[in-house]
Amino acid sequence: MIKTNIKDMLATYDKKNLTIGTVCSHSSLQIFNGAKKEGLKTLGISVGEKKKFYDAFPLGKPDEFYIVDKYRDIARFSEEFREKNVILIPHGSFVEYLGAENFLHLQIPTFGNRNVLSWESDRNKERLWLEGAGLTMPKEIKNPKDITKPVIVKYHGAKGGKGFFIAKTYEEFKKRVDESKSYTIQEFVMGTRYYIHFFYSPIRKDAYELSKGSLQLLSMDRRDETTIDEVQRLGSIQELEELGIHPTFVVTGNIPIVMRESLLSKVFKMGEEVVEKSIELFGGVIGSFCLETVVTENLEFKVFEISARIVAGTNPYISGSPYSELIQPNLSTGRRIAQEIKYGAEKNLLSEILS
Ligand code: AMP
Repeated sequence: MIKTNIKDMLATYDKKNLTIGTVCSHSSLQIFNGAKKEGLKTLGISVGEKKKFYDAFPLGKPDEFYIVDKYRDIARFSEEFREKNVILIPHGSFVEYLGAENFLHLQIPTFGNRNVLSWESDRNKERLWLEGAGLTMPKEIKNPKDITKPVIVKYHGAKGGKGFFIAKTYEEFKKRVDESKSYTIQEFVMGTRYYIHFFYSPIRKDAYELSKGSLQLLSMDRRDETTIDEVQRLGSIQELEELGIHPTFVVTGNIPIVMRESLLSKVFKMGEEVVEKSIELFGGVIGSFCLETVVTENLEFKVFEISARIVAGTNPYISGSPYSELIQPNLSTGRRIAQEIKYGAEKNLLSEILS
């Protein structure tokens, strides 16, 4: 459980003068742009050096920069940030590079529920949560000798799919695996990938209603992964494997996508079950979260991962997506986060959405 007391931290905050802060990376241009659209101040934390390219994007550039040597130094500015009424928006890179423990103990109000962290970062707990919510996940193969169909081997803590590989037999697995690292073996699910971006508000009832609050679907994307997504240009995977060239899963970008409309009921049902289970387990996955799914030829969803904060796949939708456009024109996830914070401040409900 986390050590911060959000109510104490917020006690000194001027709720009419909030600043949205995040680390300059990942989805920060979108987060700053969304905050600006909602009339909030913005603060960018730049690690190492101020990145010059922000000057080229005036609508995505924060009002103020803080330069720190390393991620860990962020904690040293806690008091200063609190004086500026800063609310930090954690994104994927932020949490990964700061480190889970440091993030958990940061004495600065952050958007979302920090207790989600252990449930998404521990693969066993993640499975308990998602399967407990009634979702179908790819089968896990405990003993590599039981590999009879294609599997994907994932190293724990690997950044952006680095080092992941496909094996079709035990022999292939043995040849490729790095036993010095811990890994999980999952059934390789054949189908098409959809990374679905939800937004759960525990304090608003104006969307898909849940036992507490409501749920929105803001957008979806497909990740562009090198080299697996282009490997066929050079020959079949089989041919390449024989030459010692193995496909990899390193994320380099994101592609916008929509899903057949008839699947949306299932999409909302999955989102609903994930949120309801999260409320029961740890008080709720608050704000943005993403279900990473494969849709099979039988139109069934297999969920291989959950990300419990803004994902970079929302970046193609800075000026809205085919879904968020049906909620409000120009609504990005970054802007939706700013709206939630503004609403929480107005209704004195910030402690329900921050931790
Ligand atoms: P992850 O780190 O779990 O998000 O996985 C990285 C990438 O590997 C995903 O974006 C997918 O392209 C692929 N992947 C992961 N799990 C599976 C699976 N069970 N079946 C097929 N592809 C997968």
